[in-house]
Amino acid sequence: MRSPYLVSVAKLLRDVPSTLEVRFEAPFDESHEFLPRGPAETDVFPEASVKVEVRLESFSGGLRARGCVEAPWHGVCRRCSTPVLGVSSVKVDERYVDDLSTADDEAYLIENNEVDLAPLAHDAILLELPLAPLCREDCKGLCPQCGTDWNEGQCRCLAPIEPPRSSPTWSARTAVGTRVE
Ligand SMILES: [Zn+2]
Ligand SMILES: [Zn+2]
Repeated sequence: MRSPYLVSVAKLLRDVPSTLEVRFEAPFDESHEFLPRGPAETDVFPEASVKVEVRLESFSGGLRARGCVEAPWHGVCRRCSTPVLGVSSVKVDERYVDDLSTADDEAYLIENNEVDLAPLAHDAILLELPLAPLCREDCKGLCPQCGTDWNEGQCRCLAPIEPPRSSPTWSARTAVGTRVE
């Protein structure tokens, strides 16, 4: 099946300037072309539905693609480590050219009178993914001593005294365990 990301632009390139509105929804990465990111990183499922709304405008030697790309992402809350879901909506303004040597390296290539919007959508969305999302703005996180989810209730540890987790000394641990009444 033909990818909806592939758009024939022969007519646009013939009639300069002209425009074409492109609008579709398609899986983010149906052919699993792009490498998944690390398990702890925010990412988009390959089968996630991406909304693409782009206006293509031809100029001599190329096209400008302007519009919006939207995709659902999944990640892990940076404070409490629960799974987080969100949607990124990203504005795009990129160029496609028929000869990359004449353009800066930010441009995409027009091949066989077609543009492939998949790399554009992919690049735009990955750049805008939240690196360290929160499950909610006021997430309280986990107790560093006992792991209790402070969103669900307080633990009996004394928080938040900062014991360095890497090399806790005996005195530091004792200090943390001391409750002030
Ligand atoms: Zn959280
Ligand atoms: Zn605790």
